[in-house]
Amino acid sequence: MIDNYGRNINYFRISVTDRCNLRCRYCMPEEGIDKIGHEDILRLEDFARIVKAATQAGIRKVRLTGGEPLVRKNIVQLVNYIAEIPMIDDIAVTTNGILFPVMAKQLKAAGLNRINFSLDSLNEDKFRYITRHDGLGKVKTAIFKALELGLNPVKINTVIIRGFNDDEIIDFVRLTHDYPLHIRFIEFMPIGDLLFWDKGRLMDVKAIKDIAEQHFALKAVSNIQGNGPAIYYKTEGGKGSIGFISPMSNHFCAQCNRIRMTADGMLRGCLYDKKETDLKPALSNPDDQELLRLILQTIKAKPARHLMNDGWGEENQRKMYQIGG
Ligand code: SAM
Ligand code: SF4
Repeated sequence: MIDNYGRNINYFRISVTDRCNLRCRYCMPEEGIDKIGHEDILRLEDFARIVKAATQAGIRKVRLTGGEPLVRKNIVQLVNYIAEIPMIDDIAVTTNGILFPVMAKQLKAAGLNRINFSLDSLNEDKFRYITRHDGLGKVKTAIFKALELGLNPVKINTVIIRGFNDDEIIDFVRLTHDYPLHIRFIEFMPIGDLLFWDKGRLMDVKAIKDIAEQHFALKAVSNIQGNGPAIYYKTEGGKGSIGFISPMSNHFCAQCNRIRMTADGMLRGCLYDKKETDLKPALSNPDDQELLRLILQTIKAKPARHLMNDGWGEENQRKMYQIGG
C-alpha cells in the first residue's frame, strides 16, 4: 500500500521475542531486561495470522528479528507458517548467529530465503567484550554454513563504534573481497542501553568509507537484493559488497518501506516514533477485518521521518531488542 508520503509499504519486521542469549553493550544491560510476560507474547499462529492479514495491505516481505529470533521456541515452525502464506515472497531473519549452525538446515527447508548476521568484531577478545559472551567461533561457522546452504544474499551487520572496532573496517572489507558476503556498516544509534552510547563513539558513514578507501578502490553497484536502505559498493574483483547505513548522518526515511511489530503484538509505523497500536484485542475477533483495519491505519499514520538525532527521549520507553532492530 502507498502511504501518505508516496512510499510503497511492503515490508514487515517482526520481533518474535525480546529475549536474547547475548548482552551486547549497546543493546541490553548485563543483568538482563524486564521481559515481556509469557502471557503477553503472541503465539506463533498469531504472528502468522497477522502476516496473512498484512498481505491484504500490500505486505510481501517479512523479516523475523528480536531480541534473538533463534531463541524463540519453534522458530522453524513460524518460518514455515509464513512461507505457506501465498502472497509472501521473501522471508529473512536477523540473528546474532550463535544458534544458527544447529538449526540452519531446518530453517532453509522451512522456507527461509535470506539471513543477516550481526557481528561487530572479528577478534575473539573484542567479541567477548562487546557481547559479554564467548561465541565468535560459532558466528563464523554460522556465516559459512549460510553460504554453503545457498542462502542469498548473506549479509553481515556491523555497528561501527569509534575507539572499539573502527580499526577493523579494513578486515571486514577484505572479507567481502574474498567471500560473497555483504557487509553493512551501520552508524551507532542512540537506542538501547544508553549508558554505552556517546556522541564521541558515533562514526558517520563518510568517515567509515574514507577508511575503507584508503586500502581499497570502491565502486558503486546497484542494490544487492534486500529491502534495506544501504548504498552498496564493491572492491575491484571482490566477491561480495559493502553497504553503508546512515540513520544518523543521512536519514533514509523517504525510501522507508516498512512497518514493525513487537513480540506482544504492538504495531509501529517507525522504529523511532513511539506511537503503537495494540493488535491483541483484534485477535479475539474470528475474522481478520479488524486486524487489517489497524494495519492500514498504522501505515496511513507513518511519520514522514524520524527525529533520532534529537535523542531517543525518556518517553520513548521501548528499546531496540523490544522493537526489533
Ligand atoms: N539479536 C539479533 C541480532 O543481533 O542480529 C536481532 C536483533 S538486534 C536488536 C538487530 C540489530 O540491531 C543488530 O544488528 C544490532 O547490531 C543492531 N543494533 C542494536 N542496537 C543498536 C544501536 N544502538 N545502534 C545501531 N545498531 C544497533
Ligand atoms: Fe541480543 Fe541482538 Fe541486542 Fe546483541 S544486538 S543483545 S544479539 S538482541
